[in-house]
Amino acid sequence: MEQIKDFRHTNFKVSDIQLFKNIHKDELLLIKQQLDACPVVRVKSGEIVLDSHSSGACLYVVLSGTLALASNTARRQLENASTQYFAGECVGEISVLDEEASTATIAAMTDAELLLIDAVVMWRLIDESNGVARNLLQLLSFRIRTTNAQLRNRQKVGEFYRQLSMVDGLTGLHNRSWLNTQLPGLIENAHATETELSVIMLDLDHFKKFNDQYGHVMGDEALQAAAKVVSAGLRPSDFAARYGGEEMIIILPNTSKESALIVAERLCDRIRHTQVFKDNIRALPHITASLGLATLSAGQDGLAVIATADAALYRAKERGRDQVAL
Ligand code: GH3
Ligand code: MG
Ligand code: MG
Repeated sequence: MEQIKDFRHTNFKVSDIQLFKNIHKDELLLIKQQLDACPVVRVKSGEIVLDSHSSGACLYVVLSGTLALASNTARRQLENASTQYFAGECVGEISVLDEEASTATIAAMTDAELLLIDAVVMWRLIDESNGVARNLLQLLSFRIRTTNAQLRNRQKVGEFYRQLSMVDGLTGLHNRSWLNTQLPGLIENAHATETELSVIMLDLDHFKKFNDQYGHVMGDEALQAAAKVVSAGLRPSDFAARYGGEEMIIILPNTSKESALIVAERLCDRIRHTQVFKDNIRALPHITASLGLATLSAGQDGLAVIATADAALYRAKERGRDQVAL
C-alpha cells in the first residue's frame, strides 16, 4: 500500500462518496476541508487492504477499482466473492469506530485507489455533521442486516448438507450414517418409555443373479422400486434406511411383534408384485425379498436387536426366500 497523493489532489467529488450523500452543501464544504489532507493510497490487485492483523484503524473509501470480501486472496475466490466494494463505497467503518482489528479480510480485486480516513478525522466528521452520523448509522444497519442474512443462509446451507449426508443417493432412504446417529436414541427412548420397538432386516433375493442377467442399471431400478414399496408401506412414525448393497433396515417404534409381522408380510407381498420394465416395455421377472423380524427385548442395544433381525433374515433365506421369519 503506497501513498500517492492527498485527497485534495484528486478530482473525486465528496458527494460521490456514499457516506457523504444527501448532505447539505454547507456541511459538504466542511467535510471537504477535513478530507483534503487525508492520504490516497494505491493497492495492487490481490493485495490485502484490511484483515485481523491490520494496525491503525482507518476507514477506506474506494476511489477507483474494486475490493472484495474474501477468506483469503486466492484470485478465484476474490472473483467469486459475494460482497464487492466499488467506487464511492467504504470498508472498515466498524474498526474505525471501536478501534478493534477487522474480523473480515478485504482485498483488492483489481488495482485500486483508496482514500484513508483515520479515527481522529472520522470522529471529527461525526461531531460536526449530522448528515455523516446519519449516513453512518444507516450503513451500519445495512451491514448488520447483511451479516444476519448471511448467518441465516449459512445455517440453512449447513442443515441442507447435513440432511443430504444422511440420505442414500440411489434409493432416497436414510443411509447408514443416519442409522448410526438415530438408532441409539430410538432404542433408548423405547426402553425409557417401556414401549415395544421392532426391527425388520430386508434383503433382495438372488440379486447378484438379477444383476448378472439384466445388467447393473436394471438392478439399480429394481432396488429403487423395492425401496419405494418400503417407504410407501410405512407409517410416518416408522423409518427405513439402506443398510448395505441390497439390504434395508426398517425401524418400527411403538410396534409389537404381531403388528410388525403384518407390516413385514405386507412389504414382502408388495415387493413380489412389483414390476420393473426394461426400455419401458418388457417386464422383467418379479423380484422378491426375504425379511427377518426382531422385537427389542429388555437390556438389548441397537447392535443386538439388529443381530437378532439378521439371524431371522438368515432363516428366511434358508427356508426358501420370498418370506418373513421371526
Ligand atoms: P441372496 O438371495 O442370498 O441374498 O443372494 P444375493 O445374490 O442377493 O446375495 P449376495 O449378497 O451374494 O449379492 C448381493 C448382490 O447385490 C451383489 C451385488 O451385485 C448386488 N448389489 C448390491 N448393491 C447394489 C446396487 O446398489 N445396485 C445394484 N444394481 N446391485 C447391487
Ligand atoms: Mg440378497
Ligand atoms: Mg445382501
